[in-house]
Amino acid sequence: MSIQQQIEEIALNYPVCEYTFGDIEEVPFSDKIWYICKTDCKRYGKSWSCPPYAGAGDLEKNIEKCKNYQKFLVFSTVTEVENAWDAEVCLACQKDHTEVTDQMYEEIKALGVESFLLSTGCVICEECACPNEPCRHPEQRHESMESHGINVMQLSDAKGMCYNYGGDTVVYFSMVLFNE
Ligand code: SF4
Repeated sequence: MSIQQQIEEIALNYPVCEYTFGDIEEVPFSDKIWYICKTDCKRYGKSWSCPPYAGAGDLEKNIEKCKNYQKFLVFSTVTEVENAWDAEVCLACQKDHTEVTDQMYEEIKALGVESFLLSTGCVICEECACPNEPCRHPEQRHESMESHGINVMQLSDAKGMCYNYGGDTVVYFSMVLFNE
């Protein structure tokens, strides 16, 4: 059984909404994505898992790291909520998504596969230590896909995945890069 088939068997045991596999050449890397983070996201510069600090703290190097892998799995979780504009609700959904991602990735690592995880950014600490103190849990944190130059909306479109299920839903994505 190929590594991809083994990973798929693992993914099927988790409450993911959609998942798909692809080749690294299909990933829409962009050197503009940090600009979008800077202008649109309050986590920019305030999380060790997000731009401009995550990974090597260098977008080109982060993209190069991803390109060391041949393939990827990307998956989403979707939660219905009463008010998707409520930041606390979104954080709770993100924590649930992180838990699913952690459990699934532990199983994938146990296959002995060369792999690298990217997700929605880190939600471990109530308040991130960034930028004044070092990360408290560098081994456990999930770095964001955007920090590695990946345009998640473009990727989901290209792979036929849904990014928006309507007003009262919250969607998060994670990605596992791997070699066969
Ligand atoms: S573990 Fe804590 S300090 Fe490190 S990135 Fe996550 S929230 Fe920030």
